[in-house]
Amino acid sequence: MCGVFGIHGHDEAANIAYLGMHALQHRGQESAGLVAADDGKLRRHVAMGLVSDAFNRDVLAKLPGSTAIGHVRYSTAGSSELRNAQPFLFEYAGGSIAIAHNGNLVNATELRTELEAQGSLFQTNSDTEVIVHLMAKAREPDVLGKLMAALRRVRGAYSLVILATHGATSTMIGVRDPNGFRPLVIGRLKDAYVLSSETCSFDLIEGDLLREVEPGEIVVIEKGGMTTHRHPEVSTSNFCVFEHVYFARPDSLVNGKSVYRAREKMGMRLAQESPVEADVVIPVPDSGVPAAIGYSKESGIPFEMGLIRSHYVGRTFIEPQDSIRHFGVRLKLSPVRSIVDGKRVVVVDDSLVRGTTSRKIVKMLRAAGAKEVHLRISAPPTTHPCFYGIDTPTRSELVAASHSVDEINTYVTSDTLAYLSHEGMMQAVAGEGTGKGYCSACFTGKYPVALGQSADLVTLRRARV
Ligand code: AMP
Repeated sequence: MCGVFGIHGHDEAANIAYLGMHALQHRGQESAGLVAADDGKLRRHVAMGLVSDAFNRDVLAKLPGSTAIGHVRYSTAGSSELRNAQPFLFEYAGGSIAIAHNGNLVNATELRTELEAQGSLFQTNSDTEVIVHLMAKAREPDVLGKLMAALRRVRGAYSLVILATHGATSTMIGVRDPNGFRPLVIGRLKDAYVLSSETCSFDLIEGDLLREVEPGEIVVIEKGGMTTHRHPEVSTSNFCVFEHVYFARPDSLVNGKSVYRAREKMGMRLAQESPVEADVVIPVPDSGVPAAIGYSKESGIPFEMGLIRSHYVGRTFIEPQDSIRHFGVRLKLSPVRSIVDGKRVVVVDDSLVRGTTSRKIVKMLRAAGAKEVHLRISAPPTTHPCFYGIDTPTRSELVAASHSVDEINTYVTSDTLAYLSHEGMMQAVAGEGTGKGYCSACFTGKYPVALGQSADLVTLRRARV
């Protein structure tokens, strides 16, 4: 998963983009990068690690100009190394182009093979670079025409922020794929236009949300203002439900809905569907907090912070190496004995993927004196990998792909285990008329865009790390 940000028409574009990327840090912590345009010249800085490590005052001072785009990354396609850090920057005969991408293309491998056979030399092993090569080869004279030509060929998930220069003019472009898998919003900061993966970055920079970029919409922002264009393919919304479940920040609105409220409702539904007699409801922080509040409100069982999260380790799941992740659970969470000792505890988490986190949490809680541990997951069982940009492991590692709820309960050693139903999740997210307009392939295996070879390769790569 990744976060993208862009600002056009602000004297301190790089500084604002830096702040915007800060607010998107939860979407990726492997690398951070920024490209700024000054009088038609594009300058780039990328580095591995967090935004605050990658940039300082001196670095930002070397990125002048009134337009800038930024990216925070964690790898779902392409390896975790500096050459894959975005935004990518390329020069071509007509000008320069920088691109930042959130999502995964499912036919990148096929396209790359074809492009390489025609002489393209790739600098990275990221799927995003395919888009640039397709643009470079297109006969259309202008950037929008080239982009449209490239978009006709790529399939999968992409929310893009592009910065193109032509002479001294700079154009910022925002694109959402026809399924609108990943979020992208447009805002204003005084006279400037801003694009971002999530609205929480607008709150930080004190900008105003204008609206979502629609699935299949291409917005072009130039000095004269913003124009909007349609993707060559027909669009049908398939917004990622997992953004609501886990990924997006609770203070964001995604797909027009409050992430916090949706999670709280998921917790309430879970309490209705799977009640249990207990003394205390505790969340797995941070992402399980709103659902645990909902569970507590609905059940009347008091809410307490029975697990404390250390904020000095990253989101451990995101770390690409298994060895770090396993160690990470203990590093990240510790139980509060005075809350759980002698108690019947309901633990609420947003998702159970491999089951390793839950198993460790249950053990920690018992060691801290919990009498009973009832695990409640505020989403359905994760049975299928995501090929549209969420880092889920291969099917063989997804415990719910091959085990029943009872078997998982035995594995994680909880007294009882229950998941939220698919219907319950969709109602919490979308209200009545459940499910339409969302992708929930990780819970159902119904993939809205057919998977190609690239998807197989993503699976293979993940199996190796
Ligand atoms: P696991 O140990 O594999 O069952 O991981 C489950 C934990 O990872 C839960 O606490 C989730 O909040 C978190 N999680 C689930 N999916 C992801 C993801 N794609 N990226 C990062 N963390 C995740």
